[in-house]
Amino acid sequence: MPKMYDVIIVGGGITGASLLYAISRYSDIKSVLMLEKYGGLAPLNSNSRNNAQTLHFGDIETNYSLETAKRTNDAAKLLLRYTESLPVAVRSEVIRKCQKMVLAVGEFEMGLLEKTYSNISPLFPTLRKAERREIGRLEPYVVKGRDRDERIMALVSQHGYMVDFGKVTKTFADKALLNRKLKPEIKFNTRVTKAERHGDGFIVTAANGDEYHGRFVVFATGAYSLYFAKSMGYDNNLSVLSVSGNFYYSKKVLKGKVYRVQIGGIPFAAVHGDPEITNPNVTRFGPTVSLPLTLEKGHGGTVGDYLKTFDFDLPMLISMKNILLNRDIMRILSKNLLYDLPVIGKREFLKNEAGRIVPSLRNEDIWLAKGIGGIRPQIIDENKRSLVLGEAKLKEDGIIFNVTPSPGATSCLSGAVADLKTITEHLGKEFDAQKFERELGEAKHHLKRV
Ligand SMILES: Cc1cc2nc3c(=O)[nH]c(=O)nc-3n(C[C@H](O)[C@H](O)[C@H](O)COP(=O)(O)OP(=O)(O)OC[C@H]3O[C@@H](n4cnc5c(N)ncnc54)[C@H](O)[C@@H]3O)c2cc1C
Repeated sequence: MPKMYDVIIVGGGITGASLLYAISRYSDIKSVLMLEKYGGLAPLNSNSRNNAQTLHFGDIETNYSLETAKRTNDAAKLLLRYTESLPVAVRSEVIRKCQKMVLAVGEFEMGLLEKTYSNISPLFPTLRKAERREIGRLEPYVVKGRDRDERIMALVSQHGYMVDFGKVTKTFADKALLNRKLKPEIKFNTRVTKAERHGDGFIVTAANGDEYHGRFVVFATGAYSLYFAKSMGYDNNLSVLSVSGNFYYSKKVLKGKVYRVQIGGIPFAAVHGDPEITNPNVTRFGPTVSLPLTLEKGHGGTVGDYLKTFDFDLPMLISMKNILLNRDIMRILSKNLLYDLPVIGKREFLKNEAGRIVPSLRNEDIWLAKGIGGIRPQIIDENKRSLVLGEAKLKEDGIIFNVTPSPGATSCLSGAVADLKTITEHLGKEFDAQKFERELGEAKHHLKRV
């Protein structure tokens, strides 16, 4: 008889690893298997090379609603508490405190930022408004060389964090593997090709033909989760728009994170500049925005799978029309198309993006960060006929699919506890909510669009 696992997790990024950890620490589940396509943990979007390394709280993210800001704030606190439990030497590798701000340039952005502030300031009592002089004190290069007539303001906080989410992923797995009773198993270089219902559970098949049996399956495959949901016949009127992009480096010019105001409710962050947790000598600017037809950045072999995540029906076509003809999205896409061109691309990026944050930067000061950046699988809600912000969790009987654009790394534990509750209820096992709350905080979970 093949071994029957209580839970099979597909995907070894931060979503899968945080669930592995939550299972090992806060439940009496007896067996768990993780299957990862590549040779190690966090090879894709959770890797520090590929995301913006920001612990998002919702205070400098001008594209969040108050509700999203509250939920993200709760989720970020869980991860922060978790990192506080790590040994000092490990903690200093995975997370660092830094100042952060959201910068408005010009009257229009300043008006938007004032509105945001009055909306969210009760939730973030340490968030302050700063004018030119204070901005110059906190981030001298944001003011140096800026036209005196150009008005700026910012919302600033000293409670920012840069996070190496790839290393956090590894700490989750390392801690889970210490559980000798559970003995979690992780199989690398195992590309799952399908999952099928079988009796009370599922058979998960790998590309080499190996089969794994599980009573509950969680797809934590990032941009690929919706592909698997659709291939199993679950169509929740969702699709994904793969949003990719590049980063540029300069020598260190910023002390902390400087985000820009995102205009028009676009569900992904505008270009920002910030320190790089793995290299204190540089500042990173990005990400730019492009729409590749792939589910993994630079991996042409995933085009066919990406197309399978689209429904190509009327609601989908109307959604795409609404998205691509949205004035703000068109403005972003047309600017960003230029950034991909040789020679003038860098110049345009400097003029429109990096130079709006650090005006004294010159063309020779920045260089493309090669091989850096991932895919943000932005969710298209075909019922709303539009792009929506944040993650989606598709739940069916005995199976969950997690689709995780930003701030998916920040919300990993919040998502994991939501999954764990569903799994333990399904399997008739215990979720130790008291222990979770004692160690990490209230077990609130964002059960999102399903
Ligand atoms: C440019 C950019 C900036 C971002 N910035 C931030 C930020 O500052 N803060 C934040 O909180 N979030 C940020 N995000 C989002 C964050 O990176 C993701 O939400 C998070 O990493 C998702 O983790 P995951 O484990 O769900 O997915 P991934 O890290 O993509 O992991 C999925 C895993 O599944 C595996 N897999 C896929 N298919 C299969 C298969 N068939 N079989 C087996 N395994 C499979 C993959 O190999 C991969 O290891 C950013 C993302 C991008 C792209």
